Amino acid sequence: MINLIALCRDANAIGIAGHIKPDGDCIGSALSLWQFLKKVYPDKKIDVWLEKPAALYDFLPGVKEIVADGAETDYDLFFVLDSVAERIGAAKEYYDRAKKKVNIDHHVTNPGEGDEYYVDPEASSTSELIYRLIKKADPDGTFMDAALAETLYLGIIQDCGVFQYSNTSPETLRIGAELISYGFDFSKLIDTTFYEKSYVQNKLLGFALSNSKVGLDGEFIYSIVTREDMDRLGATDQDFEGIVNQLRYTRGVKAAALIHQTKDGKYKVSLRSSGEVDVSKVALSFGGGGHVRAAGCTLSGNGEEMADMLEKELKKQIK
Ligand code: 5GP
Ligand code: MN
Repeated sequence: MINLIALCRDANAIGIAGHIKPDGDCIGSALSLWQFLKKVYPDKKIDVWLEKPAALYDFLPGVKEIVADGAETDYDLFFVLDSVAERIGAAKEYYDRAKKKVNIDHHVTNPGEGDEYYVDPEASSTSELIYRLIKKADPDGTFMDAALAETLYLGIIQDCGVFQYSNTSPETLRIGAELISYGFDFSKLIDTTFYEKSYVQNKLLGFALSNSKVGLDGEFIYSIVTREDMDRLGATDQDFEGIVNQLRYTRGVKAAALIHQTKDGKYKVSLRSSGEVDVSKVALSFGGGGHVRAAGCTLSGNGEEMADMLEKELKKQIK
């Protein structure tokens, strides 16, 4: 395991980046590491490089102030969280120039990169890894408070489906138990960041479900949403979160795909599995990545042709 104090002690400028289109774990882990380092080293320059998080995260401690604005900086140390460096967008050039590079991730498709890395595919989330590193650096919890506990908890619940998915371990639950003892409103946090959807998102969900098709004798379900469909519903690229999970909750289904067209005409594929099929291998075969039960990739072509391609790859994985 890497040592946060040993890494940061002599660094004056520290960058923290997560993947493009940051999700709850990405945001939670970045804000948590930032809060902790800022408390331990109030005088250091510590920047978070993230694409603007969805508006629903606006209430989080520091979220509006901390996202780096592209100020010219040569970083002594640069953390890449919840991702490989290829997927950090605008932060990449700063990462490339940084003196020391550190990678913290839980994606099974990430072999680890940089000068030092901490990659554990068994962990529920990158936020769980950040918790472990903070605990190691600050065993007595001198720097832990409700705000830091809340962003750690946010990242964890987002990636383990509020302690439901199989990546939830006894340790994940013990960490959750400790974090809620700091006294933030965890029930509200779960409601607003995990379950609540906008009206448009719910309409999009209904559309995706009613347009879905099944293949492989009911073991594969997919739904294709074009730009035209999105325009008609008033939906954006950010409105798809959670829809593929609902497709996967179809009895008999081993793998689900939500395929939606992006601005450039390509298609973003989100894959989910019940656990019997490794969708990270399917995603990897199309240049994407992810986990056994949740993965993604980008394809181009005609909608139904892409569904066929996915189906062929899935068939190889279904034993
Ligand atoms: P989602 O379907 O929610 O976009 O992504 C599911 C999981 O797969 C996440 O862990 C995400 O980071 C990963 N993932 C999605 N798309 C890609 C991709 O194009 N490349 C890689 N390497 N990982 C992806
Ligand atoms: Mn994650």
